[in-house]
Amino acid sequence: MKNYHRLDEIQNDLKLQKVSCLSLVNHYLKNIEDNKHLNAFVEVFDEEAKERAKAIDLKLKNNQAGKLAGLIFGIKDLLCYQYHQVSGSSNILKGFESQITATAVQRLLDEDAIVIGRQNCDEFGMGSSNENSAYGSVKNAIDNSRVPGGSSGGSAVAVQADMCQISLGTDTGGSVRQPAAFTGIVGLKPTYSRISRWGLLAYASSFDTIGIFSKSIEDNAIVLQTIAGKDEMDGTSASQPVQAFVSKGFEERKFKVAYLNEALTSSGVQEEVKSALKGTIEKLKGNGHSVEKLDFPLLDYALPTYYILTTAEASTNLSRYDGAHYGHRSKDTTDLESMYKFSRTEGFGEEVQRRIMLGTFVLSADYYDAYFTKAQKARQVIKEATDKILEEFDFIIIPTTPTTAFKLGQHQDNPLEMYMADLFTVQASVTGIPAISIPVGSDSNNLPIGLQIMSGAFDENKLFAISKYLLKED
Ligand code: GLN
Repeated sequence: MKNYHRLDEIQNDLKLQKVSCLSLVNHYLKNIEDNKHLNAFVEVFDEEAKERAKAIDLKLKNNQAGKLAGLIFGIKDLLCYQYHQVSGSSNILKGFESQITATAVQRLLDEDAIVIGRQNCDEFGMGSSNENSAYGSVKNAIDNSRVPGGSSGGSAVAVQADMCQISLGTDTGGSVRQPAAFTGIVGLKPTYSRISRWGLLAYASSFDTIGIFSKSIEDNAIVLQTIAGKDEMDGTSASQPVQAFVSKGFEERKFKVAYLNEALTSSGVQEEVKSALKGTIEKLKGNGHSVEKLDFPLLDYALPTYYILTTAEASTNLSRYDGAHYGHRSKDTTDLESMYKFSRTEGFGEEVQRRIMLGTFVLSADYYDAYFTKAQKARQVIKEATDKILEEFDFIIIPTTPTTAFKLGQHQDNPLEMYMADLFTVQASVTGIPAISIPVGSDSNNLPIGLQIMSGAFDENKLFAISKYLLKED
């Protein structure tokens, strides 16, 4: 079976009876089996997916199928699916079965999409390489000695290697965009609040956003349109509807684009990544769009602001895993304190422990103002400066990542080095604006390079339009 680029191609072939939902599911199941060494899935819902496929094939025959019939998707192991396990790829939740279904997942199922399995990730979404997982590292399909990025590494590789058509990941500081860049696919982090967080295991609640991996812009847009919007289960969810995305029209308009000069002047940025950005700038200029260089010195503060605030939120969010309510309880428990202590020490991995301690520290009475309050103020300053740019410009462009996919183990001993992978993605997370990563070429090792485009809040359709134009898809 061919590797379908877009859902509408699948749906055409369904109509022509060249394929069925069942044959599609079998195709992806085979790819999952053949690519086991990539470690993208932690659980495959094979029998269930086949049963559902048969039922939807019947609906198709009777002209009763939903608008996403034929779409087979995977979910990051941070999204709940009722009566199925969810673990955040952590030992502390191994074996835990969810009682609820995430709203985003439910909305896809309601339109007859089929969920094929649960995907490996960095523990509770904390990481940039998918090496912090209780299930082991995920490998990049292009080069198995390299990371796929993180934290939604399994979800990215599943789309990269055609183990499903799209994946739902989560993006707190870059976890959809960065792995999308490393694997050469499209990754969207919508506006914060666009998609309900109900059923998403919390890492840092004021940053957490469900994001979408796809091969094409169209699939990303139709999935966003289906899952976005108000949900009474999440009081922070926004009510703005997402209009249908119309791909025509971008070329007739002339846009104002800003690029952040830091991407070209910083020493840590790979030369080929800089060249890819320059290429995009030239292309836009060549077609009559105005592109201006901007200095954004606040970029230096985005990463520390992000890590102070997210570790603070994580330290409170993860306090619920205590051996009493959920998942793992230590066998060495003798009293309440030892239950907390041992269960958490045994259940959490090293990076999660590091962040809980960091977060507890920045929230402690003596340091609260020096770190937490200050970081909140910095967040506000970064947000105001970014919003101001976006009042004048339609888009901000910057590479998604300073480098292409690095080797497994390369940064594992140096957390600060690892955090640098998020240098360009955290701005959109700190400010809540939408951002997309699209593939714009590859380096001399044939590793994909991602371009990140940011726009004003709720302007995802504009992001799709410019992406489509830059990708020159038909
Ligand atoms: N790499 C970042 C971190 O470790 C982003 C993670 C994410 O977006 N979930 O926090």
